[in-house]
Amino acid sequence: MAQEDVFKKIVSHCKEYGFVFPSSDIYDGLAAVYDYGQNGVELKNNIKEYWWKSMVLLHENIVGIDSAIFMHPTIWKASGHVDAFNDPLIDNRDSKKRYRADVLIEDQIAKYEEKINKEVEKARKKFGEAFDEAKFRETNPRVLDNQKKRDALHERYSEAMNAMDLNELKQIILDEGIVDPISGTKNWTDVRQFNLMFSTEMGSTADSASKIYLRPETAQGIFVNFQNIQRTTRKKVPFGVCQVGKSFRNEITPGNFIFRIREFEQMECEFFCKPDTDLEWFDYWRSYCHNWLLNLGIHDDNLRLRDHAKEELSFYSKATTDIEYLFPFGWGELWGIADRTDYDLTRHQEHSGKDLSYFDQEENRKYIPYVIEPSLGADRVALAFLCDAYDEEVIDEAKNDKRIVLRLHPALAPMKAAVLPLSKKLSEEAGNIYAELSKHFSVDYDDAGSIGKRYRRQDEIGTPFSITYDFDSKEDGCVTVRDRDTMEQTRIPVSGLVKYIEERLEF
Ligand code: ATP
Repeated sequence: MAQEDVFKKIVSHCKEYGFVFPSSDIYDGLAAVYDYGQNGVELKNNIKEYWWKSMVLLHENIVGIDSAIFMHPTIWKASGHVDAFNDPLIDNRDSKKRYRADVLIEDQIAKYEEKINKEVEKARKKFGEAFDEAKFRETNPRVLDNQKKRDALHERYSEAMNAMDLNELKQIILDEGIVDPISGTKNWTDVRQFNLMFSTEMGSTADSASKIYLRPETAQGIFVNFQNIQRTTRKKVPFGVCQVGKSFRNEITPGNFIFRIREFEQMECEFFCKPDTDLEWFDYWRSYCHNWLLNLGIHDDNLRLRDHAKEELSFYSKATTDIEYLFPFGWGELWGIADRTDYDLTRHQEHSGKDLSYFDQEENRKYIPYVIEPSLGADRVALAFLCDAYDEEVIDEAKNDKRIVLRLHPALAPMKAAVLPLSKKLSEEAGNIYAELSKHFSVDYDDAGSIGKRYRRQDEIGTPFSITYDFDSKEDGCVTVRDRDTMEQTRIPVSGLVKYIEERLEF
């Protein structure tokens, strides 16, 4: 099945099974804004809970905070968001569509890379075992030609982006002959800057009104509380501060369902360390985050760690890695891990006039700590878990028997178990089991339809264990537990159910 079709199926599955609905659905939706339904909210809460556990509770030197969404407007001046949180946008006069100029050029760079990869794959097929890829890349004229074009474009683009030279960005688009994918024309407007922050006014009268912003990231709430947290926790560097919360960006090119939206949730950690230890901590977080995803069941093949090349790094960053996931629409950033040096605290020190340095007793000196920032989008990672878990399994080809199953890690599954009485006559006893299990986990109860249909409904929302209470259960005090993935059924005593499920939730 084409990946495009797989993605369409996942999106409609999410709507059909109460994971994600378009916002304001009965009013035909609001662009790039989504609501989480009864199963989606459980999935997202589980993700946030396991992130919090892994980051805050399992690290003795990490604490959490919850800062306000509204913050002093100068914070966004200090952070650089007022002046530099801009996307260069360009319109096509024929299709009337708006694009990010940087994305159009990046796509063009990717096209050269694709051409090179196609040549390599063609040669691999032709030469078989004897194929020497490195040598081929070094000598094949077509590969070399495309590589030269790609590198020249990349260099020109990086320079234009670093200088935010809008005329040059437009010139690149024209020189490369980039056409609008919809109209197919090169009828482009000039490139303009577009700030991604939403703004509003605080105060009840026009006089006292002051422009404030909806935060575009949660991180600044941590930086501006650095002093408060360090003083009240008396933590010594290295220590970290985490926060989960909403962020808002007026994205020019939102899309791919909940991948890029305008209101989203972030899970961010700012890890403060001694200046000369930053690269070690960077490596620590790079592999910690990667392992977190693997432990929660994401297929390793669908993950890659993309280290930013020197010319791609922000001017203040010493190292940045994006953990990317292979979505059905292609690779996309999931988790950004950045060594932000002492940039943020220094900027806030300058703009607030407050001393944000840290006194290191062991070394008897003051310094501004360096910071490593692992930043993860809750919605993006929820989408990655859903894509990774979605499976259409053929059970019996001849009978055209198929099932859709969400193979979510049990720790993330919206419902941990479902109690299914074989007959409505058994609802009292089954109801008691439901009541008992509900004290420990999120549990579903379903007594409508055939047992087979009920199993399939649970497969479709990813419930790992379906518990059937039958007429024998009355006699032997046992129930049948069906495993979502293997469909195997095990008879176990009712008294052992909590332990049985609990053991399987560990990650
Ligand atoms: P992109 O360029 O892919 O939009 P970014 O590089 O601007 O992302 P960061 O500013 O590094 O993203 O934000 C950290 C994380 O927050 C991202 O890795 C992503 O998981 C999440 N995130 C950022 N923007 C959005 C968005 N518009 N919708 C959903 N998640 C987002």
